[in-house]
Amino acid sequence: CRDMADAASATNIKVVCRFRPLNSAEKARGDKYIPKFKGDDCVLMGGKPFYFDRVFQSNTTQEQFYNNVAQQIVKDVLEGYNGTIFAYGQTSSGKTHSMEGKLHDPDMMGIIPRIVQDIFNHIYSMDENLEFHIKVSYFEIYLDKIKDLLDITKTNLSVHEDKNRVPYVKGSTERFVCTPDEVMEAIDEGKSNRHVAFTNMNADSSRSHSIFIISIKQENSKTEQTKTGKLYLVDLAGSEKVGKTGAEGTVLDEAKMINKSLSALGNVISALAEGTAYVPYRDSKMTRILQDSLGGNCRTTMIICCSPSEFNDVETRSTLLFGQRAK
Ligand code: ADP
Ligand code: MG
Repeated sequence: CRDMADAASATNIKVVCRFRPLNSAEKARGDKYIPKFKGDDCVLMGGKPFYFDRVFQSNTTQEQFYNNVAQQIVKDVLEGYNGTIFAYGQTSSGKTHSMEGKLHDPDMMGIIPRIVQDIFNHIYSMDENLEFHIKVSYFEIYLDKIKDLLDITKTNLSVHEDKNRVPYVKGSTERFVCTPDEVMEAIDEGKSNRHVAFTNMNADSSRSHSIFIISIKQENSKTEQTKTGKLYLVDLAGSEKVGKTGAEGTVLDEAKMINKSLSALGNVISALAEGTAYVPYRDSKMTRILQDSLGGNCRTTMIICCSPSEFNDVETRSTLLFGQRAK
């Protein structure tokens, strides 16, 4: 494990692991809290060690998590790098808590709203010769269809390649924003579109991936230099195995698509971590959309979210193994 962790840190891929606390239902049931922690980069499950760049215990605050996991990427994106932060884990393991948290609560807000604040704080303190153009997009991938969360009429967008062969989502909404509030409004709007769509289908949004993109272009009016950095923030569909018996129709289709796209993502990240020449970006829509922000000079962080309950032991180990594969 150690050698692999060292190899991965030489690349621009970081994998961190976060355990949530036991929830009230688990406590009421008397579930055991099973992970044991060693140092700040190792978790033991049933005595088996899993190493990451960092392991965060259940009492980690949103602020501590942001400072350790996302703050640096914001600086890199303002330097013109592209980056991606993913949250992976079974439903209810803390993916949305980590990525979004409570969007409008200063203590409980997660990575995305803190990134938004941080970007604008940097901008406000920068050289006045710099002019910034910031735009956001917001998608969801459900049953392998790309839906535009900022325009509900766009329900099946396709991925095309530009003249430099960089994939992009054709016809997607790009909203220009000038203040942190405008970004947060776009997020609220996208989330509420997503919620309405799933409620109407009587379906569960944890079976879809969401991708929020912030793109920042800077122009220096003196030197006429420009720099563009893009950040992809991805809340993945729940990684839990759906029981083979009983699952049929939409539930089975969902499970198959999720499984396919999560393994495609795992294969891309492990190819990048190993430095393999061929990276199978084309195997899923998500990896195609993210191609421009994974690998090469890009900054990639995978957050492996875990439940501490004995009840989820098997899923948690499988989640931890996914994270190790990425190293
Ligand atoms: P997921 O998005 O993976 O399905 P959530 O982020 O919605 O899971 O988390 C499920 C529940 O657990 C939520 O009520 C959330 O507030 C809570 N939770 C998750 N992670 C933490 C944490 N680190 N600390 C406190 N509560 C958490
Ligand atoms: Mg969620």
